Parts: sequence; structure tokens; C-alpha cells
Amino acid sequence: SGNLQKQEKSNILVTVRVRPLNSKEKQFLEPENESNFPEIDSTYNNNSFGKKIINVIDRNILVFDPLNSNNKELFRIPSHNNRRNKDIRYAFDHVFDENCTQQEVFENTTKFLIDDVLNGYNATVFAYGATGCGKTYTITGTAEDPGIIPRTMNELFKKIEEYKDNKIIESSLSYLEVYNETIRDLLAPDTKTLTPLNLREDSNGVIVSGLSEHHPNNVDDVIKLLIKGNNNRTKAATEANKVSSRSHAVLQLQIKQKEREANITTDYTSAVLSIIDLAGSERASVSKNQGERLVEGANINRSLLALGNCINALCTNSFHIPYRDSKLTRLLKFSLGGNCKVVMITNVSPSSLHYEETHNTLKYANRAKNI
Ligand code: ADP
Ligand code: MG
Repeated sequence: SGNLQKQEKSNILVTVRVRPLNSKEKQFLEPENESNFPEIDSTYNNNSFGKKIINVIDRNILVFDPLNSNNKELFRIPSHNNRRNKDIRYAFDHVFDENCTQQEVFENTTKFLIDDVLNGYNATVFAYGATGCGKTYTITGTAEDPGIIPRTMNELFKKIEEYKDNKIIESSLSYLEVYNETIRDLLAPDTKTLTPLNLREDSNGVIVSGLSEHHPNNVDDVIKLLIKGNNNRTKAATEANKVSSRSHAVLQLQIKQKEREANITTDYTSAVLSIIDLAGSERASVSKNQGERLVEGANINRSLLALGNCINALCTNSFHIPYRDSKLTRLLKFSLGGNCKVVMITNVSPSSLHYEETHNTLKYANRAKNI
């Protein structure tokens, strides 16, 4: 017919998770003399004086820098002095407040993707946000309160059991990092030599040559693998936090399944669920206008920038999706567009200590949402 086929609109869900104030944030603005601050706003956490600049209204709406907190005088952030509150209302597919449990986050961001992946559709979940805002807590979690990856595996193990009479389900897991545009296997058998790995594309998709594959049998195995992998994330002796925050950790779960009764020649249905703990977004500048390409600044993380541009291009139904601009986006080429479901979890701190950072993060998330 000669009609150009329009790229299918991307299936992106944008969520925000607000973590609790940490102890530093709670103490930072504590007044020397309480009587100076007669109006203790109910938005204060645990009777502390840490000013919160995010007000979660409901499951879908939050207000950044709300007006109605009667405590402007408590601000001691120089850049915010004498400024009016921005009072910006944002709507997202889901907003998780500080009391949300790991299970609630899992159920509303990832659990429903497992069936899609079993049906042959790739899916991607990523945590975006500045360092210290809860990305690793959300994606990996702790042994006491596991995050998305262990909960996903737990769910998958349950499904395998549930369907075992009718279906053969096989899964394998890999865990890599993209650091400085270099790919390394976080679960390499010999971690002393974290050799850079090459990416190539073939008819089956994108392949990372030499990446190890793992077959954990239970959630404890999964947690052990994650701990091992996270310990292998790039850290330098100095500024360990800054450096490690520039690495993207990508877990890929390949799930293959076919009916037990199927003909011997029937192929497996196969798809990949990617769960990504992104590098800290603090260096990524956000363009002011929607639809504008993010501009590269000093030291900016190329893969993070490219991911933003790809999401943006997919959301605007662009013809050209710039997958080739970075290692991360090349890796995710078949996991972002088309029929793939993509879930973004935007992690933010509620504290005024991170005012600009949080504002930028919300703008970025909103851009992904609104276009
Ligand atoms: P990031 O990976 O974005 O740099 P982390 O996940 O390491 O941030 O979180 C920073 C700190 O805050 C960690 O000590 C983490 O345990 C804690 N934290 C983050 N989110 C939560 C949460 N929702 N509930 C409790 N503690 C959290
Ligand atoms: Mg982290």
C-alpha cells in the first residue's frame, strides 16, 4: 500500500516512589530553639523538623514543594530563600509514598509483567533517580526486605510449580553492569578479571558474548547472586559512592516456555525481563522543553542520556529511535519499543536537602509520561 507503518506507541508506565526521610535529613533543619517554630506541620516526620517537599495526595498525584505547609520560614536552603513555593502538581501511573511496602511496589510495577514475558513479550523495569534515593533498595532490597528482583523470582518459581503439569518453563538469569560504556559480567566465575564483554546483534536479538548464565533454584540463591553481583559493581578506592553510582546494573531474566503436549518440533516461546538499577541521575541535566533532546554536559553518563532520548523518541512515535547511541540502549534495543512493556520507577527523597535534584527527577519522569 505504500503506507509507512507507524511504530506502535510504546507501553510505558511511569511511577514514583518516595522514600522515608533518613536520619540526616530529619536532623538537618532541626532548629536550635523550638519556640521559634510554633507551627509544627503535620507533614513533619516523627516530630522532626526536616522539611518535606513532596506531598503525596493519592495513588496517582503528588505535589512538589507544596504551598500549604505553613512553614516557609523553616527553609534554610539558600537557593530557596525568599522564593515562592513552586507548588507543582504531578500525575503519574502510580505514586508510592514513604509507607509503601516492597511488596506493594512489586505488585504495581513488575508482577503483572511476568505473564507477558511468559507469553513471549519482552519487558523492562528500571529504577531512575539520584544517588541515595532508593534505587538499589527498590530493585535488590535487603535480605530482610527483598526488592523487586527476588520477589520476581519468587513469583516465577511459583508459576513454574503451578503450571508444571501443562508447561515446560525454563529460566536463566544474567547480571551485568554498564560502566563507562563498558559491559562487565557481574557474576563472572572469576571476578578478578572482569573482562569487558562485546555486544552483538543476531537474528535472536542482542547477545553479550561470554556473559555467564545462572539457574538459581530458590530465592536464597537469587539473593546470594545479587549480593555477589552488587559487590562486583565498579567501585574505586576513593569516592566509592560517586563512582559506583555511575554504573548501571542490568539483570536479565530469560524465560522460555512451551506446552508439554506440544509437538517435539514446536519452538519454545522466549522472552526477556530486564530489571535495571540505573546510574545516579544527578549529573544528567534535563532539557527544559518537552521533546527537546537531552544535551550532553560535562561528565554526563552517556547510557543514561541515551536511554532518556530513546524513551522520549518512543513516546513521541518517532521514526528514529537512537538505540545505537550507547551500550545500554543497544543492549535494550528489543526490550523498549514495539510490544514491550516498560515500567519506570522514579526514586526520590522527600527532603528539601535535595530540592533541585528532586525537581529535575520529577521533570524527567513527567516528560516520559506526558509526551
Ligand atoms: P540508591 O541506590 O538510589 O543510591 P539506596 O537504595 O542505596 O539508594 O538507598 C539509600 C539508603 O536509603 C539505603 O540505606 C537504603 O536502605 C535506604 N532506603 C532507600 N529507600 C528506602 C525505603 N523505601 N525504605 C527504607 N529505607 C530505604
Ligand atoms: Mg544504588
